[in-house]
Amino acid sequence: MQWKGIPLFHFENLQREANHLKEENIPVFHVLDTESSHGRYSHKLKEIRFEDLVKFHGHACDGLYRGSYALSVAFDALFPDGTVDRTDLRAVSRNSPCLGDAATYLTGARVRFGTQDVEKTPGVWYIIQRISTGEAVKVTEENGFFPPEISNMEVSLAALSGNLLSQGVDRLKAMQDEWIKSVLLNTKPHEHYQVKKIDYEWKEVQYNNKGVRTDIIFKDVI
Ligand SMILES: [Zn+2]
Repeated sequence: MQWKGIPLFHFENLQREANHLKEENIPVFHVLDTESSHGRYSHKLKEIRFEDLVKFHGHACDGLYRGSYALSVAFDALFPDGTVDRTDLRAVSRNSPCLGDAATYLTGARVRFGTQDVEKTPGVWYIIQRISTGEAVKVTEENGFFPPEISNMEVSLAALSGNLLSQGVDRLKAMQDEWIKSVLLNTKPHEHYQVKKIDYEWKEVQYNNKGVRTDIIFKDVI
């Protein structure tokens, strides 16, 4: 099926494009949810792979890769048994489309339930907190791991127009993809993402239409 002549996106195509992805380093997540709108905990875990994140977010960008690397390190600290409880998490990140989406999808946190928020601190970092225990961690990407020349290129696009902008957009994506392929995917998450436990007092999310997340109220029913 096609839309206006645009072929369907297949993640396999991306993998072919990227050549020799070191797939063994890409985190795979196992998450726990409830079983219905008013349900108890599900008896089955779900596996979330990077391609699932891409479908939610819309593209496989460096931010989505870096976000999933960072979150995997945070989850290792918060859930030593390897199961991420998506009914029990709050998340803070920079207000990047890519980093925020990774947090939403993998933690279950949402602004509209008062469990997700953003702060202006630059960089790739997350504060992830378990609601039930208050236990919180901050995970941070190592300074300089992402090349400053790519960050500078991102900023410089704003000053371009016409053909120069078109070329700049292509050049930036090529630089990002090359870094993903040749650097990020050749490393394991804990090598460049550091986690530490922190004391963290959750601040109420400033969003007037917040509501109650009703699908987790009965999660502990036997
Ligand atoms: Zn993105």
